[in-house]
Amino acid sequence: MAVSRGYHFYQNPGPTNIPDRVLRAMDRGAIDFTGAQFKAIAEECFAGLKRVFKTEQTILAYTASGHGAWEAALVNLFSPGDKVLVVESGYFSLNWGMRAEAFGLEVETLPNDWRSAVSPAKLETRLREDREHALKAVLVVHNETSTGVLNDIAALRRAIDAAKHPALFLVDVISSLGSMDFRMDEWGVDVVVAGSQKGLMLPTGMAFTGVSTRAIAACAEAKLPRVYWDWRRLLGEASQAYWNGTAPVHFFYGLQEALRMIEEEGLDNIFVRHHRLAEATRRAVRVWRQNDGPEIFAIDPRAQSDSITAVQVPEGYDADKVRQLCLDKFNVSLGGGLDRLKGHVFRIGHLGDLNEPMILGSLAAIEMALELSGVPHGKGGVAAAMDYLVTAE
Ligand SMILES: *Cc1c(COP(=O)(O)O)cnc(C)c1O
Repeated sequence: MAVSRGYHFYQNPGPTNIPDRVLRAMDRGAIDFTGAQFKAIAEECFAGLKRVFKTEQTILAYTASGHGAWEAALVNLFSPGDKVLVVESGYFSLNWGMRAEAFGLEVETLPNDWRSAVSPAKLETRLREDREHALKAVLVVHNETSTGVLNDIAALRRAIDAAKHPALFLVDVISSLGSMDFRMDEWGVDVVVAGSQKGLMLPTGMAFTGVSTRAIAACAEAKLPRVYWDWRRLLGEASQAYWNGTAPVHFFYGLQEALRMIEEEGLDNIFVRHHRLAEATRRAVRVWRQNDGPEIFAIDPRAQSDSITAVQVPEGYDADKVRQLCLDKFNVSLGGGLDRLKGHVFRIGHLGDLNEPMILGSLAAIEMALELSGVPHGKGGVAAAMDYLVTAE
């Protein structure tokens, strides 16, 4: 096997590149997680997270991947037999629903085509039909990482309100937080599920839930068994410095630095940067689309994600072969297709600690891999991305 030199271009939609500043911040000794020094770090982190979630309510953190926060949301809010509505958007939405089912909840799926954003009108119609208010919650993924489709959370909130339905509103922001605008309080979200390794630029292993006052009230009534995830324990006397077990001190070192970086750049500037890099990527794919080449999987330009682009290769070609070539020949790592999209799409992550040369380098590797694997495509995708980047804001 050939030895790779130079930077590994890590272009997966999670985990993402970890900035050197964050790595350096984590390269320190342990401290007592019950002491004042740690408490000060944790308090700075929770205050910073609230600004990123755009909430004045509660944020709880866990030593876990995002799957842990998914589970925390379920076991703290519901009782066996409760009915919840999963709004289908792709692999991640259905996966969250499967977990609810495994805990004995009755899961109804609001079906949706994976290539378009979920329809607020369809949600409103379904909720209006539920006159008895049997549905206890609506579960939505903000940015569906398997498809690159962004859902309009504010519009879905308005749909719930228009139907005058009391369901709790649960939103997974794992691949949108810190990359695209999200507003927990303004958009009336009851539980926000987030992870460390995407827009927050940390390693995998820390997860978060934003929890509304209504959700905390629901937690007191819920009957599902829970210990590690139990919000009542985490909200115990010492409040947010309190942990079920040893607090992940090193994650807090990293989180403190990542949040400082976010604050320095400014959330709005971060969103503009993500949009620029995403749009450059889309310009490249639109050129590749010529000659019946690969296309952007998300159909509606308004719903195309600024953190990940799924690219569908033409019928009869293997997306995984393109990915493998990118990795083996050019040391560029892309995301693969999940579930029914396996082999049909490759996914370009453009979120986190990323700039123009990094995305252009990756796009160039992909364009070369398309050529090498014999996938028909238009030439000049990278040039189109460059043209966009020099003229755009
Ligand atoms: C990555 C991701 C998850 C899973 O998070 P893990 O940290 O891998 O457990 C869930 N939902 C979405 C939308 C994601 O992008």
